[in-house]
Amino acid sequence: MRTVITGGAGFIGSHLCDYLIEKGHEVVCIDNLLTGKTDNIAHLMGNGQFRFIKHNVSDYIYVDGQVDNILHFASPASPFDYLEFPIQTLKVGSLGTLNSLGLAKAKKARFLLASTSEVYGDPQIHPQPEDYWGHVNPVGPRGVYDEAKRFAEAMTMAYYRYHNVDTRIARIFNTYGPRMRVRDGRALPNFMCQALKGEDITIFGNGLQTRSFCYISDLVAGIYQLLLSEERDPVNIGNPEEITIHQLASEILTLTKSKSKMIFKPLPVDDPKVRQPDISKAKKVLRWEPKVSRTEGLQKTLAYFRDELIPAGKDA
Ligand code: NAD
Ligand code: UDP
Repeated sequence: MRTVITGGAGFIGSHLCDYLIEKGHEVVCIDNLLTGKTDNIAHLMGNGQFRFIKHNVSDYIYVDGQVDNILHFASPASPFDYLEFPIQTLKVGSLGTLNSLGLAKAKKARFLLASTSEVYGDPQIHPQPEDYWGHVNPVGPRGVYDEAKRFAEAMTMAYYRYHNVDTRIARIFNTYGPRMRVRDGRALPNFMCQALKGEDITIFGNGLQTRSFCYISDLVAGIYQLLLSEERDPVNIGNPEEITIHQLASEILTLTKSKSKMIFKPLPVDDPKVRQPDISKAKKVLRWEPKVSRTEGLQKTLAYFRDELIPAGKDA
């Protein structure tokens, strides 16, 4: 098996590179390092099963030889990143998806799109099943990400229906673990780094908004099961254990024994009030469900951030 992973130097992409190499795949990682970093794949350099191509997938993609699978993960993913790179986010979701699907068609490869729970927007149905069409503000600041991913899903289905490309769509919910960037603006890395450094914990709004956090090893196993399945319609992949953001901050304070104080900042525009995946379909069709408890996942992630923060000034 030869598998192309776009965004392979990012948080999730680099774990997928590891997982597939372990399964015996040859992996071609394509990334322009916009929000990823070579540190995430440094351990794979020199491995005969691994190749890195620095390239922007919003431009035409050339890969020589046979390709069996394309996992399209390239895209800024944290609200902080896609607000900083709105046009790049729209381009990689549209043109990047088009080019990746074009490569899949040319190579007769299986294609898997990394979509997101953000396609549900600020949801009015809770928890969110795959047949919910969502509640998205196209012209708000989050629209650049949400609409790009909705377009990417539509494009993927069009390539399936019109060109018979063998496609899969994963709707990924909040995922966490080692290799998240220290300052990527997301709640979980922010809270961990703030707690470890004794800084104030920045809660946006009253902290009663909810999210459901999936540990990276569970997510990657779910993506792999979806790749192997015959399911063409979107499948939610996430951990249904829902907590408030305030509770997440409290758990991190307890685990770190930090003296940091919580401070409250304005809630960003269109910030979803609730989010929880309905994973009935993944359980039934993929025979997959998450296994890692939040305490275990948080501890492993804290160990990573502790290491990252030790060399003074590194990335912080
Ligand atoms: P990340 O920022 O760590 O990784 C994204 C990678 O894509 C980075 O390495 C970046 O450099 C690369 N990239 C961005 N634009 C590119 C381009 N034009 N050409 C080539 N490479 C490009 O983010 P992540 O958290 O690993 O997210 C990976 C994917 O999963 C994204 O598509 C994201 O939308 C999706 N997703 C992630 C989450 C999550 O909780 N992390 C949730 C839902 C969906
Ligand atoms: N959030 C927060 N403090 C931070 C960063 C984020 O309270 O320092 C909130 C954010 O407003 C949202 C939730 O935490 O309600 C999850 O945000 P994140 O950026 O992790 O991802 P999202 O699920 O919004 O894409």
